[in-house]
Amino acid sequence: MKSTVYDCIIVGGGAAGLYCAAQLAKTAFYSGKKILIIEGGSRVGNKLALTGSGRCNLTNTEIDLAKYNTDDSTRLASCFNRYGEPDTSYFYENVLGVVLEKKGSLVYPATYKSSTVVDALRFYLADNFVETVLKERVEAIKKIDNIFELKSDSDKTYITKNLVIATGGITYPSTGSTGDVLKLVEGLTDKTCFVPFRPALTSLTATMPGIKGMAGIKCRGDVKIIGGDGNIKARSEGEILFTKEGGISGICVMDVSDAVVRLFEEGDEDIKAVLNLTGKTGGEILQMIYIRRQMYPHRNCADALSGMLLRNVTDFVMKKMGLKADKMTLRDLDDSKLVELTNLLCAFPVPITGYGGEDKAQVSSGGFKLSKLDDSMQVKYCSGLYIIGEAVNVNGICGGYNLQWAWTSAALAAEGISQNV
Ligand SMILES: Cc1cc2nc3c(=O)[nH]c(=O)nc-3n(C[C@H](O)[C@H](O)[C@H](O)COP(=O)(O)OP(=O)(O)OC[C@H]3O[C@@H](n4cnc5c(N)ncnc54)[C@H](O)[C@@H]3O)c2cc1C
Repeated sequence: MKSTVYDCIIVGGGAAGLYCAAQLAKTAFYSGKKILIIEGGSRVGNKLALTGSGRCNLTNTEIDLAKYNTDDSTRLASCFNRYGEPDTSYFYENVLGVVLEKKGSLVYPATYKSSTVVDALRFYLADNFVETVLKERVEAIKKIDNIFELKSDSDKTYITKNLVIATGGITYPSTGSTGDVLKLVEGLTDKTCFVPFRPALTSLTATMPGIKGMAGIKCRGDVKIIGGDGNIKARSEGEILFTKEGGISGICVMDVSDAVVRLFEEGDEDIKAVLNLTGKTGGEILQMIYIRRQMYPHRNCADALSGMLLRNVTDFVMKKMGLKADKMTLRDLDDSKLVELTNLLCAFPVPITGYGGEDKAQVSSGGFKLSKLDDSMQVKYCSGLYIIGEAVNVNGICGGYNLQWAWTSAALAAEGISQNV
């Protein structure tokens, strides 16, 4: 039997793969063209459904290069100039029919349900006759003349003129993303095109007395990562969450985790996270403590500070000073102790012993180098082969930056492909 020759096959039905197919489908030029998505999982958009704690923070109105890590910032800037947040928001609202809502610069579907986004993409693809094959993983790719031949794990062969690799990174492997880009395109390119994948946007682990007792506690503040050389390597502010494993997480911790992973890889064994657990300056905190010392002379420290600090935080910090918050009043602390307490509340040092692996990280850093792709995400020296989304060496901090990269790279590839057939 003669095999169908597709105009474009997209390997991976995640955010990038679905969006690329949708962009291809909308191009009038493509009427009558055959597009196929091959997805290893039993449904498309598995990871997309988990995003934003199930609410899908799908983009950010303040896309800023400083929020991304890549091997080619110049090209990344040009990608966002050509297809950015306004284009994505327009496409979602006016083509996919998803009403969007902003929380500051963060953009969500107005339903605050990621399933709305997955469904909008699914329905649009079905409306436009894009074929989807589920539960089949592509295992090998060959290029013969100008045609790509794909072999799947069920021994099926697929043939296409244009091929898009949208297989994601290595995180949350249960969603199907297991870093396949390397294995799939290595034979068509070479190893110098890859930066090894590693977890980014992940939690940090620490072994220090009392930290497990803080499990579940959230503080608004900031975190600085200090390397063994004593220099600040990264900083971020926002919510810090103490984890049940005895470590820290939360958006601002995840945003600095990339720097920690790098330090560990460089062999640094003396990494500290310095936490401001109050979101205030030392001067402000000291003044608040002085006022409470006068107002509540008879109360124990935990009770006297309860209006400004969670009890667990007071206990935890005073334990570090060798004191018991429920056994003494603020009057029992002399001025130097009050300053020490203030300093700890605003710069609490946590020795970092590790980080959450692939199953905990929200994105991967690494992947196919952006500098080895052209403006359409086409692999230089391998015409017809495109790589998009997290499979490319571009990763951002929390806040819709990673999905915006998925949409941008997908749309640019679709534009390039429509000029190619
Ligand atoms: C818990 C969580 C929350 C997140 N929240 C946000 C957020 O709110 N905002 C944000 O911007 N980003 C968020 N992210 C990151 C975002 O989800 C990713 O950046 C994005 O999904 C990457 O899209 P992708 O299409 O490149 O890869 P993926 O979504 O990982 O999709 C890749 C797809 O390819 C398939 N596949 C892999 N290999 C093969 C193969 N060999 N054959 C066939 N199919 C294959 C996989 O099954 C998978 O479906 C979050 C991530 C996680 C884990």
